[in-house]
Amino acid sequence: MKLNFFLPTRVIFESEAVSNYAAIFKNYGQTALLVTGKRSAKQSGAYQDVVFALQENDISFEAFDQVENNPSLETVQLGAALAKKAKADFVIGIGGGSPLDAAKAIAVLATNELTPDELLSNTFSTALPIVAIPTTAGTGSEVTPYSVLVRNDIGTKVSFGNQLTFPQLALVDWKYTTAVPEKTSVYTAIDAFTHSFEGYLSKRNTPLINSWALDAIAVFGECLQALLAGEWTNEIREKLMYVSLVGGMVITHTGVTSVHAMGYCYTYYQGIPHGQANAFLLRSYLQYLEPLEEEKIQKVMKQLSLESTEAFLTIIDSLVGLPRVLNPEEITEYSAKTMIQEKSLLNTAGNINKEIVRAMWSQATVEK
Ligand code: NAP
Ligand code: FE
Repeated sequence: MKLNFFLPTRVIFESEAVSNYAAIFKNYGQTALLVTGKRSAKQSGAYQDVVFALQENDISFEAFDQVENNPSLETVQLGAALAKKAKADFVIGIGGGSPLDAAKAIAVLATNELTPDELLSNTFSTALPIVAIPTTAGTGSEVTPYSVLVRNDIGTKVSFGNQLTFPQLALVDWKYTTAVPEKTSVYTAIDAFTHSFEGYLSKRNTPLINSWALDAIAVFGECLQALLAGEWTNEIREKLMYVSLVGGMVITHTGVTSVHAMGYCYTYYQGIPHGQANAFLLRSYLQYLEPLEEEKIQKVMKQLSLESTEAFLTIIDSLVGLPRVLNPEEITEYSAKTMIQEKSLLNTAGNINKEIVRAMWSQATVEK
């Protein structure tokens, strides 16, 4: 057996994590840059909690609140300019995956002059310390080194990251997710599930990580009926935050697979939210994988307390709807763009190639 385990993030997962650990911010410096989206950091109450904690500890700060959903390279360059101007010692990302991923890129660009290619090929050896405070239960970005950015010049999303882009600290409090709109909560929950699901099926899976992935999948299974019924209790919110956190720990070690590789195209071309994009691709993923990984897929269904993959897909369909049918030109374009995501494709079971990717795109959008 081979294990290669590295997860340098200190995780504090509890109610009122930010106020309970307010003094911990002093470990990272005297001046912080807060990185957020336009509204949700404040809507969720996380921003106010952080500001209070910083003031209590005499830490000054500047705020960069321009992060859009699916942040672009251009945006993180603006954030980095502000970090430099403010002479920030560390960066605090508050929000969903978009602000957390942007915070990682800003932390690198604040201490390096890099071209986009240099950034995206991890050609750097410094970064400001990063603190991550998630307000969605989905990406697990608070414990991954990955930063996913939109590259408008090549027309898709790409990710980068190395050991410097792991947050040093993750303060995780499910209460912030109570402000997330219902649809977004469903999509982010499915994103969290796909991380453990794809991780378990990744060629880079290990027995250790599989036990985490199966645990998170079981907890997601406990939430399915509530998701279908729209019953957003505190208990469900807390469970989904846990699924998200563990999913991040899983993909840190296994990477993601073809679902994410393909999902980036849905988001880039059709503006479909990340979790919904992944959900739309589960049918063709299962069609491809069932013959290759029958035992593992059955194990996942058992963890979810479901009889069959059909029962699973029926639930997914009712949660997120069906994708529109793609025309042949779109299938060609999306297939070509998917092939750029070499690492994720290499992690996918079997010997995935252009023809298989094209077949998966065709099967993803069969008229029902
Ligand atoms: P998001 O893009 O961060 O946020 C989606 C929407 O939800 C935004 O409109 C946001 O508002 C709002 N929102 C967030 N928290 C809220 C709250 N507590 N209350 C009310 N509204 C809230 O969504 P996400 O799904 O968490 O992140 C998706 C991004 O993460 C994608 O770019 C994806 O590629 C990436 N990702 C990264 C990893 C990783 O390992 N790093 C893994 C998977 C996905 P505001 O705009 O006002 O903030
Ligand atoms: Fe994801």
